[in-house]
Amino acid sequence: MDYLDLETIWRDVLENIKISVSPAIFQTWFSQTHLIRIEEQGERLLVSVGCNSPFVKSTIEDRYFGLIQDNLNKNLDKTCDVTFQIHQQDLKPIDATTAPLFRQDEARTAQIKVRLNNSRVRENYTFENFAVSASNQMAHAAAEAVSENPGVAYNPLFLWGGVGVGKTHLANAVAYQVFQKNPDAKMLFCTAEDFTNDIVEGIRNKTTQMFRDKYRKLDILLLDDIQFIAGKDTVQEEFFHTFNYITRAGGQVILTSDRPPSEISKLEERLRSRFEAGLIVDIAPADFELRCAILIIKTKEKGIELSMEDIKLAAANLDSARKLEGFIKSLISQARLKNTEVGEGLVSSILNKPGDTEKIGIRATPQDVIELICEYYSVGKRAILGESRARPVARPRQVLMYLLRKELGLPLEEVGRLVGGRDHTTVMHAVDKITALASENVQIREDILGIKQKI
Ligand code: ADP
Ligand code: MG
Repeated sequence: MDYLDLETIWRDVLENIKISVSPAIFQTWFSQTHLIRIEEQGERLLVSVGCNSPFVKSTIEDRYFGLIQDNLNKNLDKTCDVTFQIHQQDLKPIDATTAPLFRQDEARTAQIKVRLNNSRVRENYTFENFAVSASNQMAHAAAEAVSENPGVAYNPLFLWGGVGVGKTHLANAVAYQVFQKNPDAKMLFCTAEDFTNDIVEGIRNKTTQMFRDKYRKLDILLLDDIQFIAGKDTVQEEFFHTFNYITRAGGQVILTSDRPPSEISKLEERLRSRFEAGLIVDIAPADFELRCAILIIKTKEKGIELSMEDIKLAAANLDSARKLEGFIKSLISQARLKNTEVGEGLVSSILNKPGDTEKIGIRATPQDVIELICEYYSVGKRAILGESRARPVARPRQVLMYLLRKELGLPLEEVGRLVGGRDHTTVMHAVDKITALASENVQIREDILGIKQKI
């Protein structure tokens, strides 16, 4: 077998990888790779994979090394040693679905645009530019399932989480996706406030029937920030009927909220039980890696190229998607104002400047985090970096590894080195363990939050 047809081999490997990762992950990382060469070395193969940027390289190496190696082994039927290099290639888009556009498609695109606009669905919040990691993976999967089978899979889909975690983005992505397949779908994206105003107006102008025609005949209703209807009796009453009409006719309802139904006070019981009959998923605040991915997506959309150092610096300093947005805005205006290239310390100067992006100083060092953990759990530094497997030491140690990895974004190997020279698989295990625990154990969750605040 010769290995000349690198493109085909890589396409096959990516096809397999595509099945095991989310579209956003695939788009963000794997579509930025290609095969440079394959060399035989005795029984083994030496495979060089090119990555379009240093950041893609370090992320792929860190997170997807095994996945790539497994798939190469399978595909080439030999054991492969994989190395990654930063290497630019004029890539044709790997996604084969971007077939040439025909006139007919153009007409269709124009039609979709009009429909999107009428339904108040935004074109810039799609699955395509939504990055996925552990904090939003469930919500993303549920949203995708709903977009594929509206009215069938989960009804209603109830997405909740804090400010800026991507609820509006994700709900919008569903609507956008449905329109791509079915431009005739009757859909409306509105906030609970819009809905309320419409009702008030309907009552005032005696056009309640028009209001009902508009809402009750929808195939898909997306109601953003549903918590705002709490305590408003007429609105809740109307919404209850709207909800029933839509779902009985096989339509889909998607709701977002800043808290779960059980915690929305003054929400009518019959609504709460309707909501709870659907799928309720929460989106947690973005971790370091997700913040990096969002930054890359957002800066790219604005035509700004940031270095890997700058991306990491910003992601480490901005702990929510909203802050990231504020940061990007500052970045654009500053770059224009000063007429400078992005870089040259611009990023760190924005981060240090209070005001625009909310003030947060440059982050803690690994040593600071180690000391914080020791203080928080009242264990000695020597114990935590040592060998003891006793629970009172082992758990804090796992939290330490988790934070070094997730908050400071250090590579597994580096975390291992810092925490008493441990193996990277030990670190990986600790991170997984704490991630799992945090989703079920309130104490751990609070510990992490408490320590994070100090960081
Ligand atoms: P929420 O409705 O939860 O308050 P939004 O959906 O308005 O948050 O998100 C705030 C900003 O952050 C938007 O610009 C959105 O595109 C961006 N954002 C949040 N999460 C993601 C993500 N996972 N991938 C890409 N962008 C994201
Ligand atoms: Mg929102």
